[in-house]
Amino acid sequence: MTGVGIDGIERFQSPDKGRGLRVTRAFHVGELLFSCPPYSYVLSAQERGAYCEFCFNRKESLARCGKCKKAYYCNVTCQKGDWAVHKLECSAMVAFGEKWCPSESSRLVARILATKKTQKERSASEKILLVADMQSHAEDVDNEKRDNIQADAAGLHRFFSKHMDFPDSKELLSLFSQVSCNGFTIEDEELSHIGTAVYPDVALINHSCVPSVIVTFKGPNAEVRAVKDMKAGDEVLISYIDLLYPTDDRNGRLRESYYFSCDCAECHTKSKDKLKLKVRERVKPAEAEAVTAMLHYARKTTRDFRELKRLKTPSELLEICEQSLEEMCGVLDAANVYVLHVNYQAMGVCVYQGDLHGAVRYGEKLLQPFSQLYPAYSLNVSSLYLKLSRLYLALDKRSAGISALKKAMSIMEVTHGKDHPYVRELLKQLKET
Ligand SMILES: [Zn+2]
Ligand SMILES: [Zn+2]
Ligand SMILES: [Zn+2]
Repeated sequence: MTGVGIDGIERFQSPDKGRGLRVTRAFHVGELLFSCPPYSYVLSAQERGAYCEFCFNRKESLARCGKCKKAYYCNVTCQKGDWAVHKLECSAMVAFGEKWCPSESSRLVARILATKKTQKERSASEKILLVADMQSHAEDVDNEKRDNIQADAAGLHRFFSKHMDFPDSKELLSLFSQVSCNGFTIEDEELSHIGTAVYPDVALINHSCVPSVIVTFKGPNAEVRAVKDMKAGDEVLISYIDLLYPTDDRNGRLRESYYFSCDCAECHTKSKDKLKLKVRERVKPAEAEAVTAMLHYARKTTRDFRELKRLKTPSELLEICEQSLEEMCGVLDAANVYVLHVNYQAMGVCVYQGDLHGAVRYGEKLLQPFSQLYPAYSLNVSSLYLKLSRLYLALDKRSAGISALKKAMSIMEVTHGKDHPYVRELLKQLKET
């Protein structure tokens, strides 16, 4: 392995996938393969005040940066530790005030450029090589993505010009496209977005829809744990995408975002597709044409939802959800992934609106199918249990709350490890409930 040698893991050249990682000894379910500090990372602007910008510690009573009054820290040590990158933003935020709004990618790229610069000055070339090692696919970028990158690059120039020397536009395009291919979204235990980071070592791990490992985060560090028993020589494989969806959708997503198609066992056998696309059982089954048309509609609804979220009010969204559920459930089974998708969105809207009963009603429809359709140790499943447990407890449904909490914990003990702060918080909560 490049960088510090990691016991039990080696880099190899896969005949069809390029570089990859494999294990040189056995690893058991729940075992930590390695943890990896970020090359660069950034806390989401929306999460300021909830987390320390430097160590991503989540706690109340963080101390504010006296100058910009926007960044929060555990203490002076964290503030000092962060200054090399925070100084890129601190005075600009004061100067721009409310108008300060670079995208998260721009903020991350600014930090990468600053990190590169300090490392060049120290003439430590290793990490720079690691970043050069990440796939860029700049040549594959389509027009829409190019527009987005150009907007990000413009934001970078506008909000970060003071402390930066910018590379030429070709290098910048390549850097932004590396970040979009290799960047990791840091999420909390309910899969809410906290920040973005790049991890050179984790970026070496190839994709499979039947992954052998899962990546979670402790502070800004990535941790890679086995979710299957692995034997010496097995490739380390993570999933880059949401595994709920059927094979065609997954591969569409992979091509669109990562420029390849998957050839894992599940993509060959498509063993779960039938269940994922399940049609409602009726005495008189729906015509094949009606099913195709409905699946087309359902897929489109799923795709359109992201855009709708930006445009519609919560109550409008809920109404759209109800309408499409009514449409879909005439033909599709209640456990069809597109029906599940709409229920999931509706649950989120209800939580947002403070309608706990509504959220529970939608959430409960997801539980059984999620457990069946996702792999055994899935963050999508643990986060659903967690959300439901919090809803139950808020509604004074103590035993349902505790049972859901325990289910979430049994998954997270494998995916996050027993000593992870999130797991310890849950254990504490369980004792107090
Ligand atoms: Zn801190
Ligand atoms: Zn500041
Ligand atoms: Zn696959």
